[in-house]
Amino acid sequence: MARQSATQTARLAALALAGLALALASPGRPAVAQSFLDSLFGTRSTGTVTPTSAQPGGPSAGGAGGTRDWSGESGSSGHPEMTADAITAAAAQFPACIARLWPDAARRGISRATFDTHTAGLTPELRLMDLMDAQPEFTKAFWDYLDLLVSDARIKRGREVVAQNAATFAAVEKAYGVDRYVVAAIWGVESNFGTQIGDRSVVRSTATLACVGRRQAYFRDEFLSTLEILQRGDVIPDHLKGSWAGAFGPTQFMPTSFKRYAVDFDGDGRRDVVDSRPDMIASTANNLKKDGWEAGKTWGYEVVLPQGFDFLLADSSRWHTMQEWARLGVTRPGGKGFPRPADKAYLLVPAGSGGPAFLMLKNFRVIMKYNPAEAYAMAIGHLADRMRGEGPIVQAWPRHERVLTSAERYELQTHLVRRGFDIGGEPNGRINAKSRSAIKRWQSTVGLVPDGFATASLLDRLRSR
Ligand code: CA
Repeated sequence: MARQSATQTARLAALALAGLALALASPGRPAVAQSFLDSLFGTRSTGTVTPTSAQPGGPSAGGAGGTRDWSGESGSSGHPEMTADAITAAAAQFPACIARLWPDAARRGISRATFDTHTAGLTPELRLMDLMDAQPEFTKAFWDYLDLLVSDARIKRGREVVAQNAATFAAVEKAYGVDRYVVAAIWGVESNFGTQIGDRSVVRSTATLACVGRRQAYFRDEFLSTLEILQRGDVIPDHLKGSWAGAFGPTQFMPTSFKRYAVDFDGDGRRDVVDSRPDMIASTANNLKKDGWEAGKTWGYEVVLPQGFDFLLADSSRWHTMQEWARLGVTRPGGKGFPRPADKAYLLVPAGSGGPAFLMLKNFRVIMKYNPAEAYAMAIGHLADRMRGEGPIVQAWPRHERVLTSAERYELQTHLVRRGFDIGGEPNGRINAKSRSAIKRWQSTVGLVPDGFATASLLDRLRSR
């Protein structure tokens, strides 16, 4: 989904990586659901077209929403608006809540006819309360995540769609300066090239979330923005379907992101990111451009670290020029050089000292604005490179390492806190940058390589001392 914004909202999809459950969830960001990604990893059901998901749930298709109803249980977030009683009470007030949004809608230029057409008889889909509050328990190792998203099939299909849309991609590259393979990779990862875009009504999902649950203020804007899209006639109303959070189209635009980034590239007067490939491709490129994409530059390089390398340098806050990294003995596999020695990058070692290392440039952080997870951005960048004809990652992943469970990550944090290391808060089972930093400092004190990688053996050692 195209997201990110001035509001610094961050997608909730907590991609858990090799036990490093990335703390993606910035509190203000809605769980901008990724239909395809979520279905792939089972982090939450998004109602996408997958065998295990709910059927399209119209108001008559099963009460609260399709074949799978709301669990009726209080949410796991502990938020007062997520208790079963609060959800039931808010649902009873749903028609009145929607009616109260009319003045805001009118101020946005939405006509009474449009408002009535899309809200008459609308019911909340309470199943979303389970989805928005789901704790992503399913964790994937970084390498498993890449294997799934950068598969041979997806590389092949990506090359096909780039070839089939060559003229459009060329025009978009010229207009926005964004690499066609990166846009194609987002298309491939977000929706498997448009085959899995989600089947929930964006109006119903955003209306539900605007009136029920713990993110109503955020989703009021999404709901009203959805009505604006319908008022303008940018997208065919029946095609405005998507993930449970309202992300729609092949590259999963949220309604507010649509407003910010969508462009009419085919010149028919409509910004149709669902049914017009030129509009969809150009809008996605425009999103990246507005987020700071540097034309003609890559996102990053796989690098080899010298023996005895100081892993404390692998830190997203430590940016150095490629020349400086080279001076520290960092090289590219196969002896390739760094074409732009003055460009700055930070070192990412996603699976510890026993795995590959990468130097990440500005464009990597731009991809992370689309979805704030290093594994996501890595998958996009690597898939793009592979479509372009470059080879796989050369260095081996530590595939023998087991991914820590949520309980084990919690325990690991608890041990660190007891030893006086700051993990940036209370133990929560999410190994974020602060926790990784605490791991590194503890590793340093006991003579281990300070790579911040949370492994089972590391937990064992913390337990025994
Ligand atoms: Ca158009």
